[in-house]
Amino acid sequence: HRYNDAGEEIDKDGKPIKEAVNLKRLAKLAKPEAGILVAGCFCLIVSSGSSIVAPLFFGAVVDAAQRSMSDLTRTAIIMLLIYIVGSIFSMFRNGLFTLAGQRLVARLRTELFSHIVQQEIAFFDTTRTGELCNRLASDTQVLQNATTVNISMLVRYILQMIGSLALMFYLNAALTGVLLAVVPLVSITAVQYGKFVKRMQQQFQDRLADAGTMAEESISSIRTVRSFSGENKVSKTYAEHVDKSYQIGRKLAIAGGLFEGIVGSMTAGAITLVLWYGGKLVYDNTHGHHSGITPGVLTSFLLYTLQVAMAFALMSALYGDFMKAVGASVRIFDLLDRKATVPNDGGEIMTRLSGRVEFKDIFFTYPSRPETQVLKGISFTVNPGEMVALVGPSGGGKSTIVNLIERFYDPDSGTITLGDRPLTELDPQWFRQKVSMVSQEPTLFASSIKDNIAYGQDASIEKIEAVSKEANAHEFISTFEEGYETLVGERGVRLSGGQKQRVAIAQALKMDPALLLLDEATSALDAESEHLVQEAIDRAMKGRTVIVIAHRLSTVRNASKVIVIDKGVIAEIGTHDELLANDGVYKKLVLRQLNAGAVNAADL
Ligand code: ADP
Repeated sequence: HRYNDAGEEIDKDGKPIKEAVNLKRLAKLAKPEAGILVAGCFCLIVSSGSSIVAPLFFGAVVDAAQRSMSDLTRTAIIMLLIYIVGSIFSMFRNGLFTLAGQRLVARLRTELFSHIVQQEIAFFDTTRTGELCNRLASDTQVLQNATTVNISMLVRYILQMIGSLALMFYLNAALTGVLLAVVPLVSITAVQYGKFVKRMQQQFQDRLADAGTMAEESISSIRTVRSFSGENKVSKTYAEHVDKSYQIGRKLAIAGGLFEGIVGSMTAGAITLVLWYGGKLVYDNTHGHHSGITPGVLTSFLLYTLQVAMAFALMSALYGDFMKAVGASVRIFDLLDRKATVPNDGGEIMTRLSGRVEFKDIFFTYPSRPETQVLKGISFTVNPGEMVALVGPSGGGKSTIVNLIERFYDPDSGTITLGDRPLTELDPQWFRQKVSMVSQEPTLFASSIKDNIAYGQDASIEKIEAVSKEANAHEFISTFEEGYETLVGERGVRLSGGQKQRVAIAQALKMDPALLLLDEATSALDAESEHLVQEAIDRAMKGRTVIVIAHRLSTVRNASKVIVIDKGVIAEIGTHDELLANDGVYKKLVLRQLNAGAVNAADL
């Protein structure tokens, strides 16, 4: 293996292997568009052919003007036809390549998104939302252009350049030689600049992405920003991010301007040189030294020179685009290649699932915080029909246990059994439908109440109304002018906390889950709302297997088993009465709540 200065593995030509592989994959990505691209290539060849021969006829018209009127008209018409054919095919070429690009990017986005949502929860603990959105929106856009339109432009310029040069040699080798002496100068400048731009643009994109991510976070949590009066602070941070990208943007602007100036002057110099030398040949031709250069031939030659120079300049711009595309494709392919560590499909689908849950010696560490083990040897059983309460100090690991039952994460060691099967053997998408979670702060989607309750399944309006009644939600929904069609706003902001919870309970009930996971609200709802939510929860728990993260004494007293979790281990296990008699962590917890006035002494 050989490596370059940047430490990347390189092939025998010294090109980074990753880049080579990426180009191949990019081509593969465009494969379903092969038909369109072939048709596009045909149009491309015809239109390039037209622009290669057109200058020849342009010159012929100039020379014909010196012979006869009929000659002039005939040549002009031929020239016109060539230009028209070129334009028509150029139009189809453009349309076809753009179409192929649009189809490709639509496919790529769809594929990328479904791949992203398949990733395990731990991936989202460490990856920023804004970054993923950037890949979906801008990286795919860069690829769209690079894989289709830019390639067609590249091929066109190459054809045009080769064709033009060949015809120029045919017209006059000496004159062409003069031109070719100048071209390498221009090309070296262009390539060097391309490299520079690639680096700068990458930095620019990175800085811009930082700013975008930061803006997204602040705007999506605007309530938090507002409540902390953090507007000025986030504005300042955003301004700093923007300034960083601006600093690079400024350099890019200067470099870009300089490049235009330098390459522009060089091109002008080349044209003047060719014009002067060509003019000399025309002079020689008319003064007895036969050179074969007529004013018409010189005109053709100048047009070719312009064409070659233009193709060169545009090709160097393309180079920057391609480099950007390589960067974008590395990021996209990295994401597409990523395999979720917790699979999301496959596994067994059973006809029935009982609500039985068993934890056998579970150890667990969050992948995003590898230095802290959160669960340290948890074992317990929940039998079908039981209501089990998880209690304990905050941060002890209760929610983590619930997360593991949903298989959001896999434990470091130990087995979790659901029904009678290890969780790892069940089809995750299937068993998650049998396990419903009602959290303290349910997140709703920005659609109607009806859609939120149905969430992706076709449930009849009767069914939705029935579960809403059971969840004490029907009444408040009916008071809305638009009833079940009422839009709840982003994350459900247009509903109160208690209303959101009741919608979430209806959601859970609609699934008729074998196992209900509940996270009792700690936040204070108003008494009326609290009563309605509690009633709905009690109803939902009836006849079901339930694991509840309990904060209320009444819930704990009704539980068939209370599991006290403290610092990642089970401190105590038993019924409320047994635990009170124990004089341990549980009793302390209860007494603390009593002192805080959270429960009635009579409840004990
Ligand atoms: P509880 O529900 O008992 O309040 P949790 O299960 O939420 O406790 O948290 C247990 C520990 O795990 C805490 O120290 C918490 O900081 C940590 N933790 C929770 N969620 C994550 C996460 N997604 N990534 C890393 N650490 C986490």
